[in-house]
Amino acid sequence: MAKVVCVLYDDPVDGYPTTYARDGLPKLEHYPDGQTLPSPKAIDFQPGVLLGSVSGELGLRKFLESQGHSLVVTSDKDGPDSVFERELADADIVISQPFWPAYLTAERISKAGKLKLAITAGIGSDHVDLQAAIERGITVAEVTYCNSISVSEHVVMMILSLARNYIPSYEWVVKGGWNIADCVARSYDIEGMDIGTVGAGRIGTAVLRRLKPFDVKLHYTDRHRLPDAVEKELGVTFHKTAEEMVPVCDVVTINAPLHPETENLFDEVMIGKMRRGAYLVNTARGKICNRDAIARALETGQLAGYAGDVWFPQPPPKDHPWRSMPHHGMTPHISGSSLSAQTRYAAGTREILECWFEGRPIREEYLIVAGGKLAGAGAHSYSAGDATRGSEEAARFKT
Ligand code: NDP
Repeated sequence: MAKVVCVLYDDPVDGYPTTYARDGLPKLEHYPDGQTLPSPKAIDFQPGVLLGSVSGELGLRKFLESQGHSLVVTSDKDGPDSVFERELADADIVISQPFWPAYLTAERISKAGKLKLAITAGIGSDHVDLQAAIERGITVAEVTYCNSISVSEHVVMMILSLARNYIPSYEWVVKGGWNIADCVARSYDIEGMDIGTVGAGRIGTAVLRRLKPFDVKLHYTDRHRLPDAVEKELGVTFHKTAEEMVPVCDVVTINAPLHPETENLFDEVMIGKMRRGAYLVNTARGKICNRDAIARALETGQLAGYAGDVWFPQPPPKDHPWRSMPHHGMTPHISGSSLSAQTRYAAGTREILECWFEGRPIREEYLIVAGGKLAGAGAHSYSAGDATRGSEEAARFKT
């Protein structure tokens, strides 16, 4: 029987919800490319309830315990004295969400002698040292596509809110003001702007599709080129590298995974190649952007705005410069954890567990590492290596 350790974010400060803003979720038939939605044999939760926090338990307890497995759920994940570090010692399976990542560094993996499976309840397994997982033969799987559309909606919202200066304008109303000039002195239409995505996978392409009706000029860079027909349909221009793309863009959105190739991609040099007053939206991973270079670029005006929901580490220390830099629209990591997305990734996690326990293959598109190498989606979109360095700083959030 397996010991499953599941790391989830804390419940709301007012307690686990007893009612919800809406009565249900729209029913989706499949993902936009035809991929089927998560298909476990059953679920033990009501779609639309909070599943990603500790009391929600991803809806897994009944299923696991009825089969004789044990489930430990905790939000205490950072530092050597954390519950996670203690429970990891004899865990067979770890489940973690990118929003509140249980960093599986090489050091932690070396202490987790029984660990065989690391599931990301979401997309993006950079919180796992993939190189160490490869070397130890640990399977890493994520719920590919579960929240890609959720994030793409968020990206469009953030591009518009930065360009139109939405957040400061909202704040004037809350403060009791009617300061139109203060609000509009930094407000622009995106119509006619050049907007480029770094990464045109599930999220990047969905962002391009959603932006097209705004009559903007679209650009992308990716390791693999989109099919001709898609390029034509979207009227999107391909650039071989991000360096080539950013000088022609007013807005850049980052939608590539964090792996050794993309870590620190947006450093001082790359940001220096962007148009003065460009907007940068990063909902991919914090570490793709250099923390201090972003803050400096907002201070000097090289960037007119920066928004996103991803930081490094997570949670970021209270003095992280992105909390206080000018012209930012940062939130905690939420874009992929809407109640809609939670329903899909909880079901996908259950599907992966059912496959694992029954000895059935996990869907190829869910695999990141298997059999001692990058596999499935991981082989297509990641490079081997480690992107967890520095994650121990997450323990500073508590102090
Ligand atoms: P996909 O795998 O569908 O797309 C990722 C794309 O990035 C692929 O097309 C890949 O290229 C491309 N890519 C990889 N490396 C590079 C590179 N060096 N330069 C340019 N492009 C590159 O994943 P999704 O679109 O679903 O998700 C993308 C990322 O977004 C996730 O890995 C995750 O980090 C983040 N994410 C964030 C969420 C949030 O809540 N904020 C939620 C979900 C995801 P190719 O495959 O062609 O090699």
